Amino acid sequence: MPIQLSPIVAGLWRIADWNLTVAERVRWIEQTLELGVTSFDHADIYGDYRAEGLFGEALAAVPALRHRMQLVTKCGIRLRSSDRPYRVNHYDTSAAYLRTQVERSLSQLRTEQLDLVLIHRPDYLMDAAELAETFRSMTAEGKVAHWGVSNHSVSQFDLLNRHYPLATNQLELSPLALHALDDGTLDQAQLLGLRPMVWSPLAGGRLFSGRDEQAIRLRTEMSQIASRLGISIATLAYAWILRHPSHPHPITGSGRIDGIKEALDALSVRLDTEDWYAIWTASQGHPVP
Ligand code: NAP
Repeated sequence: MPIQLSPIVAGLWRIADWNLTVAERVRWIEQTLELGVTSFDHADIYGDYRAEGLFGEALAAVPALRHRMQLVTKCGIRLRSSDRPYRVNHYDTSAAYLRTQVERSLSQLRTEQLDLVLIHRPDYLMDAAELAETFRSMTAEGKVAHWGVSNHSVSQFDLLNRHYPLATNQLELSPLALHALDDGTLDQAQLLGLRPMVWSPLAGGRLFSGRDEQAIRLRTEMSQIASRLGISIATLAYAWILRHPSHPHPITGSGRIDGIKEALDALSVRLDTEDWYAIWTASQGHPVP
């Protein structure tokens, strides 16, 4: 059965910065679920390897929450940290490392099964047949329901997808990051009918705070469209992403419930073609050829 994610996914990359008590984390999760955002995006490395554990503490406090959500996580990046003194940051998709990290995520998130695990970045040393075998064995053990990738090119996706049916490619897309429109990844998602997950839909906040020419140009254009439509710039950015025919799942990064509501508001906005291209044009700094 294909994975079912909520139309908007909540991202936990920044949870360690939110400085919430366990009770506040429980409340944040409850409010998010009440709004209909039931899918939560993690990675083993977030918050210097602490983010999953912070979320897991909340699930341990109220275990019934787990049954109301889909847990997504990622692995495959070996990031230097105080207790991981690697000489360089690197990628590792070996069976041994993947198994260690998936088991760590299960224990940090206090769950028996992960709904979706993504290979965080393309590993140049990935052996696709061996990785697919790892996917198969961990699925047979009931530890992972679905597998996918993130930041993979069309050929990298295709290679692994021929060995194991992937659920999604999680990609960067925002009015400030247009490359997925041209590099074939969104075309591939549409071709295969696999909805992409979209990270940094607000360009990590740069849409609001960027002082570079592109960000300033976009804010000027987007504030005019947003005020005409009676929505916020954030909602407009989400609506711009949702307008893509690959049916993306934007992943919010906000710690504020109001930030999540701004994403949900976009589900009832359908941008017209000219507004969509006006945003594209402001981002590029030139009209379509
Ligand atoms: P984002 O939504 O583009 O950026 C979130 C940042 O924007 C937060 O600091 C947020 O602050 C700020 N923000 C939101 N609304 C704002 C507003 N109206 N005015 C000013 N600032 C505002 O998302 P992201 O956090 O970069 O990424 C989202 C998720 O994608 C992550 O949590 C993670 O799960 C995933 N991700 C995946 C990858 C990957 O390689 N696969 C890479 C990056 C991220 P507030 O909290 O104050 O709202």
